[in-house]
Amino acid sequence: MQSADPGSFASLKFCKGLVLPSLPYALDALEPHISRNTLAVHHGQHHAAYVERTRSLVKGSDLESASVADIVRYSVTQSDRGLFNAAAQAWNHEFYWQCLRPGGGGESHGAIAQMIEDGFGSCRHFSHEFVTLAGEQFGSGWIWLVLDGGRLRITATSNAGTPLVQLQVPLLAIDVWEHAYYLDYQHRRLDYVDALLTHLIDWDFANHNLGMASVAGAQATVERQLLPRRDLGA
Ligand code: FE
Repeated sequence: MQSADPGSFASLKFCKGLVLPSLPYALDALEPHISRNTLAVHHGQHHAAYVERTRSLVKGSDLESASVADIVRYSVTQSDRGLFNAAAQAWNHEFYWQCLRPGGGGESHGAIAQMIEDGFGSCRHFSHEFVTLAGEQFGSGWIWLVLDGGRLRITATSNAGTPLVQLQVPLLAIDVWEHAYYLDYQHRRLDYVDALLTHLIDWDFANHNLGMASVAGAQATVERQLLPRRDLGA
């Protein structure tokens, strides 16, 4: 009998509490595709600011001891747009760092490889669709590979949007806010996304997320994610 707690999925490998998580690699580990300078500013300034903003918004409340994922879900139940923007960006960035690794990218492998072939025809077609959607995304946002009803989908969210509060399980993400690529690629967003898919995407992380969703049951996972969490911290 498999007994994984569906609610544990979103917080797996994520830091406990409202602290800026360390990067899972050195600042220069993703060069030349993402420079040390970009990573230092993106992680040390942008991501740090979202964590700090979230911490300041929940200070003194029961949410102080909640996970970032639970704060995101709670903010939705309360229609608290300010808290959602800060917490979702904190969660999205922590997820994004884990989607990358030195020597990654290229052909998918493991369980997700067959799903990509079934869903997109080939890894090359998947990459083409992913890059195309990144080009169509107007303004700031994120491009995701998600599990949606048992099938893979490429989706886009604007600003702080996240599959965490939808009926989808996030498997991979690429940040397409300008701060993610402007220092290295200027306006060439598609070159940035293509470089990540070719050289940095961590398919092991995607397989890990897929495996957790399979164990927990994707539907159970998302239902858990959507539960009103008015009892947080109680
Ligand atoms: Fe970012």
